[in-house]
Amino acid sequence: MKERDLLLHACCAPCAEYPVFDLQGQKIDTEVLYFNPNIHPKFEFDRRREQLEKLSELDDFVCHFSDDFRMDDWLEHKWEGQFASRCLMCYQIRMDYVAAFAKEQGFQRFSTSLLVSPYQNHDAIIASAELASQKYGIPFFYSDWRPHFREGQNMAREHGLYRQKYCGCIFSLDDSDFKEKIIASFPDGWEAQR
Ligand code: SF4
Repeated sequence: MKERDLLLHACCAPCAEYPVFDLQGQKIDTEVLYFNPNIHPKFEFDRRREQLEKLSELDDFVCHFSDDFRMDDWLEHKWEGQFASRCLMCYQIRMDYVAAFAKEQGFQRFSTSLLVSPYQNHDAIIASAELASQKYGIPFFYSDWRPHFREGQNMAREHGLYRQKYCGCIFSLDDSDFKEKIIASFPDGWEAQR
């Protein structure tokens, strides 16, 4: 099997911008993985996936895509009894998948673009990634990219990428100040997405 260096989990294209730029700048051979069953509804899941595909062409990196989409897990509160909150479930299932995938595909280490966001629970992401690292026997590459969040968002704007206004799950959409505007951007209205 080909030996590969780093697999970067990407939650979306705008958040992947700076980490990819930084890793490429450090000459770290990086491939990217889109695994985000927490992004709802399906139209939004596909829209963020397409934007990452566009970025992979612009920045010339290999990108892997998973079609795993799980709005029902969120609606059925699947975290209850297993995780302290839905966000902890959300981080853990993603870090578990990326660590397992990286190990299986012969990468030396893994990381995540979630580390660039000042809006995420940074410590919980680290804890989830470290747990996944132990479970699957592959090192977690940590970098605090948060000071460069705005820089990454500006790069995404310059690239003409869609920049979403909610974290991803159905609950975060409901909580967004831009909820009505977001729903209006879904074709055929909200009900067609459920
Ligand atoms: S708010 Fe964000 S991190 Fe939390 S469960 Fe929803 S998508 Fe995941």
